[in-house]
Amino acid sequence: MLATRSISRETAKVRAPAVKSCPWCRDEIPHDAKKCRSCGEWVVSTSHGIAAMMLRLFGLAWVALSFAIAAGLWFAGQALRGWVWMHSVNQQLTPRVVDFVLYVVIAIVLLKGVAIGVGFGILARLAPRRPRWWT
Ligand SMILES: [Zn+2]
Repeated sequence: MLATRSISRETAKVRAPAVKSCPWCRDEIPHDAKKCRSCGEWVVSTSHGIAAMMLRLFGLAWVALSFAIAAGLWFAGQALRGWVWMHSVNQQLTPRVVDFVLYVVIAIVLLKGVAIGVGFGILARLAPRRPRWWT
């Protein structure tokens, strides 16, 4: 019983490192291969690279900053609305007009921020995938 178990473990140890099967096309490839020679797929973890990761982080930071600016504009707009309400400098300049201008400006800031963030994300994805530089 003990003898058969140790024999099967030894044969497994000898056979295992030679080849493995590609997870994409199931062809047999060398055990330490990084890319399948049959289907051309990477068989190790890949990434778009460090430059692409920087681009993506920059895009995320841009979107976060846009949201922060939009929130700041909102609070500034509320203060301005109250001031217009109290002083009524102009018959045409009602709090409703201030609200409308505020919504338009905030919408532009948010749309532009998100568009630029998505643009950086698309740029990052254009970089070819390579085996990861970290383990
Ligand atoms: Zn393959």
